[in-house]
Amino acid sequence: MIDFRPFYQQIAVSELSSWLETLPSQLAQWQKQTHGEYAKWAKIVDFLPHLETARIDLKTAVKSEPVSPLSQGEQQRIIYHLKQLMPWRKGPYHLHGIHVDCEWRSDFKWERVLPHLAPLQDRLILDVGCGSGYHMWRMVGEGAKMVVGIDPTELFLCQFEAVRKLLNNDRRANLIPLGIEEMQPLGIFDTVFSMGVLYHRKSPLDHLSQLKNQLRKGGELVLETLVTDGDEHHVLVPAERYAKMKNVYFIPSVPCLINWLEKSGFSNVRCVDVEVTSLEEQRKTEWLENESLIDFLDPNDHSKTIEGYPAPKRAVILANK
Ligand code: SAH
Repeated sequence: MIDFRPFYQQIAVSELSSWLETLPSQLAQWQKQTHGEYAKWAKIVDFLPHLETARIDLKTAVKSEPVSPLSQGEQQRIIYHLKQLMPWRKGPYHLHGIHVDCEWRSDFKWERVLPHLAPLQDRLILDVGCGSGYHMWRMVGEGAKMVVGIDPTELFLCQFEAVRKLLNNDRRANLIPLGIEEMQPLGIFDTVFSMGVLYHRKSPLDHLSQLKNQLRKGGELVLETLVTDGDEHHVLVPAERYAKMKNVYFIPSVPCLINWLEKSGFSNVRCVDVEVTSLEEQRKTEWLENESLIDFLDPNDHSKTIEGYPAPKRAVILANK
């Protein structure tokens, strides 16, 4: 089973100690109502071996190297276990010679975001909607003091813990299985990331104020989300589905998003990147049984989704509290 006690011990002696007022009881409650498959997924993490690690690279990739190369049989066993945790959406991971080639090249997003950020060295970071934690490891690679991710999807927690185990049980990043709206407002993080989450929230302005409540004064928000073309009055609210996803609510234009952030009390709001998602960034691999971007686009016109909306375009916006 995934044990949060080491995390509690870690935060007890940190600026996050006040989180202990609510977190242990929330997670005890969470434990009682986990997904039917959670126990199976958590066992898979237990089955993975502890491997002696010669080197870990989190600066240019998420990669561990063994002291001596694994035999083919050992590799196959690990691949077998990891594939029980499919679909692997965010990556890639290179773990002891095994390439977990996920649906998304999350490293592409990181390259778009990182050059614009206040240096992450020694910062206390919250990654809201961190998925399997790919970007959290890259934040550690940039020298962050501590990285906490929150994500309510239990499969992603188990993927994160599997990767952690194969990264020599590195404890500089931690994933807590809560939604942002459930988290005690700590007002302490130096940088808060929300990437790929806003359009899944029914109430985007509430999401922005929840993010603000986690930041210290002067701290930096990194918001990455789907956007559409248009002026500050333009927001796309897809009918039933967008790119086959049922849970997409608000896709604003960049000027509209900037307005939302300013209205929410953020300062120094600026858009630093806009890019249409490419078929190289989101694609089908052997680590995913489901469909991917190519199946979500109009086969005759890749500038549109299958429903006829503009194809996914994403912006990176920075702001300060
Ligand atoms: N940040 C990653 C993953 C984005 S996918 C990236 O940019 O690549 C969106 C993630 O948000 C999913 O993992 C989903 O489980 C998570 N999520 C959904 N609702 C959430 C909520 N209320 N609070 C925090 N995370 C949430």
